[in-house]
Amino acid sequence: MKVIVKCEKCNNEVELTPLTVGQHAYVRRNLQENNLRVFETRFDKRTNLNADKDFLGKLAKAKTENEIEEILEDDIDYQTDTDIELEELRFDCSNCGDYIVLTEFK
Ligand SMILES: [Zn+2]
Repeated sequence: MKVIVKCEKCNNEVELTPLTVGQHAYVRRNLQENNLRVFETRFDKRTNLNADKDFLGKLAKAKTENEIEEILEDDIDYQTDTDIELEELRFDCSNCGDYIVLTEFK
């Protein structure tokens, strides 16, 4: 499989073809070499607290803002579930300025 990014205004184009065993195609590098750019323009991020008793107990015993900050910095990644979904991806043509925004990934 391959993906072709083609500017209809100036015919600038690049083919993204897989180069590795896992069929990975290098996007940013190939686009830059052909005067095209890609940006992630919008994410949907949801974080839910999923705290265990030890963590809540440590927070309850904290006496200062510094102690609270330290506990949160150490443990917040383990005490939350975060879902991040790409919502928009934009391709720009550096030759002529045309662009496309891809959306509705789900
Ligand atoms: Zn163009």
